[in-house]
Amino acid sequence: MTRPANVAILGATGSIGRQALDVIDRNPSRLKLFGLTEGKRTSAHSAEYLIQGQAGDPDFDARVETMVTDPRCDLVLVAIPGARALRPTLAALKAGKEIALATKEVLVMAGPLVMKAAGERGVRPVDSEHSAIWQCLWGEQRENVRRLVITASGGPFWSQPDLDLDRVTVEQALNHPRWSMGPKVTIDSATLMNKGLEVIEAHHLFDIPLDQIAVSIHPQSVVHSVVEFIDGSLKAQLGRPDMRLPIAVALAYPDRLPDAVPPVRLEELTGLEFHALDEQRFPAVRLAREAAAAGQGRPAVLNAANEEAVSAFLAGELAFSAIIPTVERALAAFPGGGEDLDDVLEADRWTRDYLGSKLGRLRA
Ligand code: MG
Repeated sequence: MTRPANVAILGATGSIGRQALDVIDRNPSRLKLFGLTEGKRTSAHSAEYLIQGQAGDPDFDARVETMVTDPRCDLVLVAIPGARALRPTLAALKAGKEIALATKEVLVMAGPLVMKAAGERGVRPVDSEHSAIWQCLWGEQRENVRRLVITASGGPFWSQPDLDLDRVTVEQALNHPRWSMGPKVTIDSATLMNKGLEVIEAHHLFDIPLDQIAVSIHPQSVVHSVVEFIDGSLKAQLGRPDMRLPIAVALAYPDRLPDAVPPVRLEELTGLEFHALDEQRFPAVRLAREAAAAGQGRPAVLNAANEEAVSAFLAGELAFSAIIPTVERALAAFPGGGEDLDDVLEADRWTRDYLGSKLGRLRA
């Protein structure tokens, strides 16, 4: 492309959005801010669209749809959390836009719908593990892939096997050893539900069966993920734990941006560790696989129940160790539904209603 790519950012005030603005500012010959959404007016940026407000407000939603389907817009970075990201993502894909996707919930809830709307061009992942796998797959034939290995830092509690998870405080759970992220994904890292969601995300993004996607605990967070091929070769992508790198990869594809982050120096890499996941203590990955395999709206239930349980934990209303059992309870009670957009949104609503009364009782 001879002119800079016009980039719209959904969710410019979150952690990913702010780092994306930084990547765009530093690469004016290749990337141009076309528009953004933010909860309140905070940015000093100029762009064609500066949209303030909250998803769900009809006026806000209509303006977002106009922005992401504008013929001048080339690429949409989706970085608003949760189910609210689903409709604008589908609208942009149907208008033929490239998508850089940071919101994994979109693929967890509605992977088949989203990948169908994306068609041949696919979706550019921003999640660091999926960016790693994506980069390892460039130029490879899909039938030569044996399995994917998603790495996990393990969060703050993995390395403390004797810690009583019933007594973990919000402050302890928010203290992530490697990555600086928003509170929701930081708690998901501590429960390992983040990896459960990422297994489902990888399954849809790369069209790989669930049982060919493994999780490995790698506390140093330097190897961002691994692809194993049928000949026994393994390819990994390494980098500092800095989200500006996967953001730059997604925004500039198939190009690369100079000095997006400082490179890892190999001499600094003493003692990279990889450990099996303890599924007894951290059952979230198993639960996510089961929900994805069963389908019929269950991944949307998994996602919504987890969101509700995490926000109850952050509000001090639910024990850390009750987060995953709460998700399990919602999945067990869900009668099953369909797989269309309305069905997925209904499964999301059902879960919030169901847990609203249950968590409400716990709060009382
Ligand atoms: Mg990740």
